[in-house]
Amino acid sequence: EVVGPRSRDEFQRSLKITPGGSMRAAPFFAPHPPYAVSGAGCWITDADGSKVFDCENNFFSLVHGHAFPPVIEALHNVLDDGTAFGLPTTSETRLAEAITTRSPKLEQVRFTSSGTEAVMFAVKAARAIRGRPMIAKFEGAYHGAYDYVEVSLDSAPNNWGDSSPNSVLYASGTPPSTAADVLVLPYNEPKSCRELIRKHHERLAAILLDPVASRVGMVPIEADLREVIQDCCNRYGTLLVIDEVVSYRVGFHGAHATFGFEPDLVALGKIIGGGLPVGAVAGPASHMAIFDHTKGKPAVSHGGTFSANPLSMTAGLAALQAYTKDAVARLNQMGDTLRSEAIEQLRRRELPAQVTGMSSLFRLHLKAEVVRNYRTSFPSALQKAALAKVHRAMLERGFLMTPNCSGALSTPMSETDIQDLAAALVDAVQEVWKQSPW
Ligand code: PMP
Repeated sequence: EVVGPRSRDEFQRSLKITPGGSMRAAPFFAPHPPYAVSGAGCWITDADGSKVFDCENNFFSLVHGHAFPPVIEALHNVLDDGTAFGLPTTSETRLAEAITTRSPKLEQVRFTSSGTEAVMFAVKAARAIRGRPMIAKFEGAYHGAYDYVEVSLDSAPNNWGDSSPNSVLYASGTPPSTAADVLVLPYNEPKSCRELIRKHHERLAAILLDPVASRVGMVPIEADLREVIQDCCNRYGTLLVIDEVVSYRVGFHGAHATFGFEPDLVALGKIIGGGLPVGAVAGPASHMAIFDHTKGKPAVSHGGTFSANPLSMTAGLAALQAYTKDAVARLNQMGDTLRSEAIEQLRRRELPAQVTGMSSLFRLHLKAEVVRNYRTSFPSALQKAALAKVHRAMLERGFLMTPNCSGALSTPMSETDIQDLAAALVDAVQEVWKQSPW
């Protein structure tokens, strides 16, 4: 059995005290995941003593894998000094300086405790700066749990709309008015995007964009759309809000620099916390002034009991310092190798599957046709079931991916690890294809 009895018992116990026996939806897979006990580098040891090679890295947040020595040492150095204060600490300034030094377009930073909050504050700031109520986002894109950015996260074919994507509410009970203030754009369809933005620009405060959004298919934004988005923002005074909670890792200077965007605000998270809870809004000082609380009530008030807590700040700084230009280049190269190896082997074995992604991010699709956006990546019921089987087949081979078969590489991985991962992935796809073709 791939998941052992101790994890099973722990899950049974957990079922009583939390809905579904799991504290977070995303890591769950049936019948239940193994319970992690410890991690070191690329490896996690579970409650039954089994080891898995971790390509999930806590949903792309651990760019150096588990228990990265510089992060652990930095944490040890501050742990005895207390964990949180109702006062600022120097650690928050140091991490903010590290971010602004890497990305000169980001002149100022406000930290939050999660990526969800970072995106939420970026959206609120954009609305306040422009005095407009509406935001645009791409169909299928995940940006955290704020009502507005959840719109059309999982819209199904019967909801897709004829000429342009419908604004579909996500959580039951979301006020219907939410949908009226969210324009949903079709990814990598520049003509429709331009037309939709033109039509709504007077009410449109911001375009929210993740240039390598996982649930949009994890395909980098194409050059045509990039130009249309930047041009529309310049033309209509619409703010460009880039969600780099995941995609920050693609380049040393951040995703906005890799893609050549002029961002008005950027939401950060994941790797900038070195494995501890974090988020951040960053941008030019002129925009960030919206949060300035020194002259009475700010236009957008931002706080958070654990925002900029010194442990996250300290771990984040150690992680970023080790994510050097060389480390970024090496990891990106390994990602390229993984994708090209896997794609080539899948093609040679005539398996209808492909691997998308960019830099150290990857995602498996059980599709032969080219995946360009949410709709072309949308799995049929059969493909969805097969993806769950591939995930399990990978676990049997000792590799952990996210339950929907995406993943992120980490710096402790070696070239050999990447070859093994590619081979295991192709093998797993082949096994499932033979048993139950999609
Ligand atoms: N934006 C993106 C692109 C994300 O992938 C996520 C989380 N996976 C978030 C925002 C929200 O971050 P968090 O889970 O830290 O709230």
